[in-house]
Amino acid sequence: MGQVYDSVMAPPCIFCDNNSGSREHLWPDWLLKRHTFGPIKMQIGIKQRIIKPTPELKVKTVCCACNNGWMSQLEANNTSIIGPMSDSTPTTLDTAAQTLVAAWSIKGAMMSDSMRGRKGTKFYTRGECLNMRISRTIPPNTLVWIGRVDGKHIANVGTDFTWNDKNGKHLATNCLCTIAAGHFVTQVVSVHVEQPGANIQSIPCKAGNWNEKLIQIWPIQQPVVHWPPKIAITNGGPDGIAYLLDRWRLE
Ligand SMILES: [Zn+2]
Repeated sequence: MGQVYDSVMAPPCIFCDNNSGSREHLWPDWLLKRHTFGPIKMQIGIKQRIIKPTPELKVKTVCCACNNGWMSQLEANNTSIIGPMSDSTPTTLDTAAQTLVAAWSIKGAMMSDSMRGRKGTKFYTRGECLNMRISRTIPPNTLVWIGRVDGKHIANVGTDFTWNDKNGKHLATNCLCTIAAGHFVTQVVSVHVEQPGANIQSIPCKAGNWNEKLIQIWPIQQPVVHWPPKIAITNGGPDGIAYLLDRWRLE
């Protein structure tokens, strides 16, 4: 906290006090060995954006000890749950499984947040990241949903967005991360509330039959959930994955 890092020194790992230093693979081996992946095509206005599969992506913000220690353990604990969903196999998640998948999703959101090229600013606080390492604690004001995509993708797409009221008053800063792993997709929204009364449940998003396409797993609402949801997210069109990535962009 409040330390100044010499420009030649690597900043510490986002999850502990070690130097980040090394380059660690973003995606676990178990997932890469299981599938080949296709790109996600997004149309925003007249611009087309293609999110390429990123199996080789390396991260400079996490240390080797975290990657090979608790993060690797979190992968191992999730392999038997996310693995079948990535294959499109129907899966039942009890509260322990929902908690594990939520922690996996937020770990991915924190890594994504640390990799975005904003000058030194991150959304997740140091305390939120340390608590993830120490106890897999999920930050307050965080929602996680899971769904199924028709195609097999691998992507980790994160953005920040601000939430203003209708008079333009700043209510909260939010961080969104969508992770696709094969047919499995998870979406995380975390909110840092800046005005009293700004409630995470009321952040506006694009209209859509989200309740039929996504299952909320955090905060836990049901002791058991059955994946996949009623409606699959398609590769394109109005139920497409691009629309899911864009769910919280209102302007
Ligand atoms: Zn570390």
